[in-house]
Amino acid sequence: MRQQIAAANWKMNLTYQQGEELLDAILPATAGLNEHQRAIFAVPAPYLQMAVKKTDDYAKAFVAAQNFHDKKAGAYTGEISADMLHSIHVTYVVLGHSERREYFGESNAFLAAKVTTAIQEYITPIFCCGEPLPVREQGNQNEFVRVQLEESLFHLSAEQMERVVIAYEPIWAIGTGVTASTAQAQEMHAYIRSVLADKYGAATAEKVSILYGGSVKAANAAELFACPDVDGGLVGGASLVAEEFKVIIGALK
Ligand code: PEP
Repeated sequence: MRQQIAAANWKMNLTYQQGEELLDAILPATAGLNEHQRAIFAVPAPYLQMAVKKTDDYAKAFVAAQNFHDKKAGAYTGEISADMLHSIHVTYVVLGHSERREYFGESNAFLAAKVTTAIQEYITPIFCCGEPLPVREQGNQNEFVRVQLEESLFHLSAEQMERVVIAYEPIWAIGTGVTASTAQAQEMHAYIRSVLADKYGAATAEKVSILYGGSVKAANAAELFACPDVDGGLVGGASLVAEEFKVIIGALK
């Protein structure tokens, strides 16, 4: 069975102390997760080590960086390398979030290099894709997302592809309070899986976890996660509220 994942994306929020309190409040809720379920916390870089230490006591809780650099080391002031993440036992990295694409100009090709580095360094990429509103309004969302996958992921081998987590995040649903309907989410997730199957075969496509992101909250998580091709969620705003995110963790199937 594919991994079912509740991933928290704290973005650039919370102080260190608030982050500690939030993790202390949420982590016990991960104790009830089974072997196919996990919670992942994408925390700000200065909190990674603290989060790794706290999650050490919880077998189903993991830590993600929100970004890293594709180069191994060197004169890249302000950047974080895969080796650095490894050295503090961070096992996931979020790549291609729409905010990084929009504000920091990250292109599909640039992200392909980051994906390669993540795979080579055995850090699992949570690769975000998703269309802006005008593309959805024109009915071109499938084509848009397919190109994102092709240009950033399809240089990987099938074995490498199985180590990627995909997060479908329609940009019009991120932080807006507007959630994709279960029908829209399932339709796109099934489409993504079919694109993976065309490229890598059905067996590989079946192994890739595809998360939904975009205004997931306690009130809609169970309904979204019940969709056959939705393997959990990448959660922004609601992951900052312990009671919300605990319910979301409990909604994993
Ligand atoms: C996100 O940032 O990945 C996200 C989905 O945010 P929100 O849940 O707040 O829409």
